[in-house]
Amino acid sequence: MLIVSEEACKAVIDRAAAFTAVESVFGAMARGDAYNFPVIREAIGHADALYGFKSGFDRAGMALGVKSGGYWPGNAAKGLTNHQSTIFLFDPDTGQLAALVGGNYLTAMRTAASSSVSIAHLARRDAKVLGMVGAGHQAAFQLRAAAEQRDFERVVAWNFHPDMLPALGKVAEEIGLPFEAVERERLGAEADVIVTITSAHDSLLMRDWVTPGTHVACMGTDTKGKQEVDPALVAAATVFADEVAQSVSIGEAQHAVASGALAESAITPIGAVINGDHPGRTSDDEITLFDGTGVGLQDLAVASVAAKLAEERGEAQVVAL
Ligand code: NAD
Repeated sequence: MLIVSEEACKAVIDRAAAFTAVESVFGAMARGDAYNFPVIREAIGHADALYGFKSGFDRAGMALGVKSGGYWPGNAAKGLTNHQSTIFLFDPDTGQLAALVGGNYLTAMRTAASSSVSIAHLARRDAKVLGMVGAGHQAAFQLRAAAEQRDFERVVAWNFHPDMLPALGKVAEEIGLPFEAVERERLGAEADVIVTITSAHDSLLMRDWVTPGTHVACMGTDTKGKQEVDPALVAAATVFADEVAQSVSIGEAQHAVASGALAESAITPIGAVINGDHPGRTSDDEITLFDGTGVGLQDLAVASVAAKLAEERGEAQVVAL
């Protein structure tokens, strides 16, 4: 059995590895080769914590396991990350525990890989301006991953807490992109690709602000009641999701579907585009929207690669069962 620490994950998983793992498992999901089990998420009545697990099996990648963890709001005061998770991988042939893998860094990497897979497959080739809505922990990972997918010339950004924007500006500077904090209307008017990654419970981006041809990756909404964009924007877009069942229940599309503005049947799994079974974007004027809700199979996919590489490179601790 392997133990792969957070540090070991950082040493072996880069953006390219995360992208390949996530793209491949989205393809497997759309083919029916991989499926997620129902998600459990509970308020445990201690430390204000939300705890749960996401699990699944990828028959193509032979990844079986569970990500367990959640959100402990008091952690920051203790110098710890509020989101905490660990991934358990099992041998699909025997059920034996194969690896314990730190899940904090991998969660950020697989979430950023998800939106960047959507940009790679759905954004206009000539996209030049990247819009960021959100500037928290995940936003930095999102910005770095998104920036690699097109020849972006600049970044425009907005955040509910403006004091958090300079830190995101530093990330843009590190990757050589001019960065400007702007109002939301201007962000919508100028951006060719928009990534939303906030914990908002209201529309931050209205339909009328977003111009034809934009690709929007909604990444923050992963729970019932959360919301980042105008349901009219979702209804006006061609909508893709990591998993349609999650998109309509806990994802961004939950609101447009509940109001009847969007039919569940109109949402396409992005894996269908990856597999060549759906054309994806069909015109330069189309608004495409990716609802990235975050599925357990993404975690298992990157954790499997991390465990394999860490073992090969002597970064994993080997423990007898
Ligand atoms: P964070 O706490 O570091 O940052 C939160 C962000 O939300 C900041 O930009 C903050 O300014 C903004 N925000 C807070 N309250 C707001 C409000 N009322 N209105 C608008 N914006 C508000 O969190 P993070 O780790 O960066 O995560 C951001 C979001 O992404 C969370 O909602 C998290 O649950 C979600 N998430 C999704 C996935 C996925 O796979 N889809 C994975 C990880 C995290």
